[in-house]
Amino acid sequence: MDAHQDGFANPFNMDEDCTNCPALCDTRESVVHGYGDVGAEFVFVGEMPDAGADAAGVPFVGSESGERLQSMLGDLGFSRSPPDATEPDLQNCYLTYLTRCRHPDRAPTGEELANCEPYLNAELRMINPEMIVPVGQRALEALAIEYTTRAPESFDAEAEHATTVRGRGFELLPMLELERQSDADSEAWVDHVTDNVFGRDYRQTKGRRSR
Ligand code: SF4
Repeated sequence: MDAHQDGFANPFNMDEDCTNCPALCDTRESVVHGYGDVGAEFVFVGEMPDAGADAAGVPFVGSESGERLQSMLGDLGFSRSPPDATEPDLQNCYLTYLTRCRHPDRAPTGEELANCEPYLNAELRMINPEMIVPVGQRALEALAIEYTTRAPESFDAEAEHATTVRGRGFELLPMLELERQSDADSEAWVDHVTDNVFGRDYRQTKGRRSR
């Protein structure tokens, strides 16, 4: 954790009672803002909290999918906690979403994505990571609009899983939706990061503070 950081949950003190999306205020248990190391080089971005994350108020925990990601974080040295921890001890990574409030029956609408975008934008500006991991197709398309020159519809999370996409200011490491991943898919993603990211100098020249 960054030396100046008090805790992992919502470290930028974003509004935990946000009412910008009226339909989601009625269905959510928590507003699940970002969680992790504010000095992270790797930021993971999902579409929206699942039931486990909504209940815990922490991204990517409390469900089979969450445990899959937490296990991958452990394999990469980003987590020092067991995969079923609901408040994982993370380093060099930050977990967040396109939208932070859950509807149990549907994906977020375009308007809800637009309402919530300033939170993600602020997190990315403040963290200034080297690598962004879009988890799933919707996150991949949303981040491709911002950070690559390719047409968002040209991206396919299944085809781009476990690859590196060069972008403007950041590199993207796309990942298939956690619930669609087999163990072999998860292993391939971890192997890609280990061999092709950790194995080279991935830090770009953007005036980072030393860690
Ligand atoms: S999804 Fe985002 S913008 Fe909408 S109510 Fe939740 S925190 Fe606010």
